Amino acid sequence: MMNSTGSDVIIIGGGLAGLALSILLAQQHHTVTVFEKDDYPRHKVCGEYISMESFPFLEQLGILLSDMKLPVINKLLLTDVHGNEMFTDLPQGGFGISRYMLDDLLAKRAVACGVVLNVKTRVDDVLFDGDGFTVLAAARQYTAKIVCGAWGKRANMDVKWHRSFIKEKQKGLDNYIGVKYHVRLPWTDNLIALHNFNGGYCGISRIEDDKCCLCYLTTAANLKQNGNDIAEMERNVLMKNPALGKIFSEAEFLYDTPVTISQISFRKKDTVLNHVLLLGDAAGMITPLCGNGMSIALHTAKIAFGAVDNFFISGGRKQMEYVYNKEWCKKFYFRIFAGRILQRIFEKQLAGNMFLSIFKKLTFLHQPVIKLTSGRPF
Ligand SMILES: Cc1cc2nc3c(=O)[nH]c(=O)nc-3n(C[C@H](O)[C@H](O)[C@H](O)COP(=O)(O)OP(=O)(O)OC[C@H]3O[C@@H](n4cnc5c(N)ncnc54)[C@H](O)[C@@H]3O)c2cc1C
Repeated sequence: MMNSTGSDVIIIGGGLAGLALSILLAQQHHTVTVFEKDDYPRHKVCGEYISMESFPFLEQLGILLSDMKLPVINKLLLTDVHGNEMFTDLPQGGFGISRYMLDDLLAKRAVACGVVLNVKTRVDDVLFDGDGFTVLAAARQYTAKIVCGAWGKRANMDVKWHRSFIKEKQKGLDNYIGVKYHVRLPWTDNLIALHNFNGGYCGISRIEDDKCCLCYLTTAANLKQNGNDIAEMERNVLMKNPALGKIFSEAEFLYDTPVTISQISFRKKDTVLNHVLLLGDAAGMITPLCGNGMSIALHTAKIAFGAVDNFFISGGRKQMEYVYNKEWCKKFYFRIFAGRILQRIFEKQLAGNMFLSIFKKLTFLHQPVIKLTSGRPF
């Protein structure tokens, strides 16, 4: 095992949360090392609709979104499994950008700010000695005063640390799969559609270069019932919704195979574990139908930045962990809880259909229900 020099902060995972935190810390002249097991640019399973609450924050980080002419999205179309439609406005709205582009822009910005970004380097263990950390990655040891875990929904570190959502028996809110394509088809720039099918839902909205992101979430059981064959499941289940039938038969698919992930869990998680502050999906994941996971990940970076920066001024680790957890709960606990309830409703065909047919008529409830899962600019 070789030794390496230390940094003030090590961040495990260079997705949205990890990169955003690294930029904030580097801008404040802290030395930061990020470990990312993959490389940039790369496709990721995500609906690629970002709530407008993140727009000013990303610009503050140095991602000049205003110059990119990205599609602005402010109308929502919901369909039930039979294709019955409901349109409504999105009070805050969002914009579309691929993860291929966004993560790459953030990675370049982090490096420009002085962050040491180690790509294709997986962290295998983190040890705390009472005063600081030793991180093991690619047969080397790295030291830091603070370690933040921004490793996403499910990673080797979750298994290593026997986190409860990994070791407990899988039940409701566990074991979903996500599938994503980029497609071309005639589409209204400001519209995001969420089409329900038995056992899941599929979102479609515009991203850069006149492309659309088509992304769906369903249960692993649904895939299993269709012989673990994605194309078969799309034919037998998704395309039963006529709106999805039309999209799947008319769109031009831009990859040979979709990007997929499995074993997604929406269960409650810790925000601090073994003195490591957990950010983004590593601390808890809002269900994708809310279109808010990316904003929450970015927002956790801002909260963690405040707590970590304060640690370097006042030196209290306990205080840092307490403040981070308290802020996290204040900002996200209710949104994530509301998202879980909506998820439960929509994944049951009958409940989802009933909810939509009633909700459609109660127009005065549209904005309040949407607002339950969204936040304000930060
Ligand atoms: C089907 C689906 C659709 C979605 N649609 C939307 C949407 O439209 N809008 C929205 O706002 N949100 C959406 N989300 C949620 C959103 O994608 C996530 O909330 C967001 O990506 C979380 O960012 P993160 O930084 O926490 O994690 P990630 O972006 O997943 O980053 C984690 C990083 O850590 C790296 N990593 C993991 N382990 C290690 C290790 N040991 N060492 C080094 N690196 C490691 C990974 O390679 C990865 O790059 C969706 C999610 C799903 C599943």
